[in-house]
This record gives sequence, C-alpha cells and structure tokens, in this order.
Amino acid sequence: MRQKIVAGNWKMNKNLQEGVQLAQEIDKLVSELKNNDVKVILAPSFVNITEVKKAVSSKISISSQNVAAEASGAYTGEVSASMIKSTGAEYAIIGHSERRMYYGETDAILLKKVKQALANNLKPIFCIGEVLEERESGKHFDVVKKQIEQGVFELSADEFKNVVLAYEPVWAIGTGKTASSDQAQEIHKFIRDTVAAKYGKAVAEETSILYGGSCKASNAKELFANPDVDGGLIGGAALVAGEFLGIITGF
Ligand code: PEP
Repeated sequence: MRQKIVAGNWKMNKNLQEGVQLAQEIDKLVSELKNNDVKVILAPSFVNITEVKKAVSSKISISSQNVAAEASGAYTGEVSASMIKSTGAEYAIIGHSERRMYYGETDAILLKKVKQALANNLKPIFCIGEVLEERESGKHFDVVKKQIEQGVFELSADEFKNVVLAYEPVWAIGTGKTASSDQAQEIHKFIRDTVAAKYGKAVAEETSILYGGSCKASNAKELFANPDVDGGLIGGAALVAGEFLGIITGF
C-alpha cells in the first residue's frame, strides 16, 4: 500500500510564534485522530523549521519548501540539504511552480536540488504541473511528462523510491479553481503510467502522487476518492488548523 500524504506548504506565511502555535494546534488535532494512516507534513519557512519541529510530536513530519542546488560554500542566502536534514526535517519540496516562475528554477537546477536532497536523506516532494494556456491547448500531458523526465528520471529506481510527486496545475494554485475530480484522476493515472514505463509497475504502484491546487476540506474527499490521487499538497487551506484537519480526514 502506498503512503497517503497531506502536506501543508505554508509558503511565506507565519512568523515564528504564529508558526509554532499553528503547528501545536495541528499536532493536537492529529494526535486525537483514531487509526490515522495519513502522513501529515508541515513545510514552514526555513527560519522556522527548527522550532516548528520541536513543537510537534512524532505524528507530524517536517519539510522545507526549497533546498539549495549546491552542497555547501559561498552561496549567500542559500540553505543546504544537510542543514535542513540537521533540524530533523525529512522532506524537501522541490520545483514548486512559484520557484519555477519567480526564481527561474529550470529542470536542470531542480535535478541538482533533487540529488542534493537525496544525498542527505531528505525525501523530495517534486512538483509538476502545467499553466492555463498549456492545459487549454491540450499540452498538459507533454508538459508534465517533460518535467518528470528532466527533474527525476535520471535517478536510479532505488533513489526514485524516495520521491513523492505532487501534481499542481498552476492555474489552480491559490486561485480558488480546482481541477475536477476527473481531470485529477486522468493526469495522475498518466503520471503513474509514465513512472511505470520508466521504473516498472511495482515502483509506480508504490509512488505517492499528491494533488495540489485550491484543495480544501470541502473538495478533498472527492479528489482523494480517485484511485491515483494519494493525498494533497495544500497551500492556503493549510494555514488554518481545523480546515487542514478536514483535508487530512478527507480520505
Ligand atoms: C500550493 O502552493 O502548493 C498550493 C496548492 O496552494 P493552494 O492550496 O493555496 O492552491
């Protein structure tokens, strides 16, 4: 059985005190769940990772929102995978569309980031997804395939087993527009088939593929009911503990 995952990407929201408080609220709610089989991940800003990690129980895992492409050295302002790992974090979001769009992160840079994460035992949550014009012109399958091929298909099967994929249609992120349940299943199945063609069916069946894009408590159930949707990468709705819990319990 592949892992169900709900990950909250806090983006550039929550200062230290607010982040610790939100993490404690989420931790309390998750700890009260009976028989929870969903991995819950919080991704605060770099600067708050250490304290957020200390504020939660072992029921919550921590992710960064980014990672440096280089191992160490004269890269002012960057945060290395080994620094992230040393806080107790287990995951690193890589290739979020905001990083691709606003910070010029190319597939080649993202591959370096993925390798840095894996070399430091951080599991990449690798984001892929098309913009609106690509969806409207029917290019979304090609776009997503290329992003996967160039971002993670250089990995060995053993390395790839540590990768979580997150399909996030850019037109649905923070817009209130969500992919329909059918659209999500269609492209998640395509992504799984793409992984199967490269690494084999067994690896593909074990790969968690998350949906992201205006997912909230009210639509999570419908999205997560699809056989190839293994959870969500959540932005706005991850900033309110009760709403985030409603997503976690959406399976
Ligand atoms: C995201 O940025 O990963 C995301 C899915 O954002 P939102 O849920 O706010 O659309």
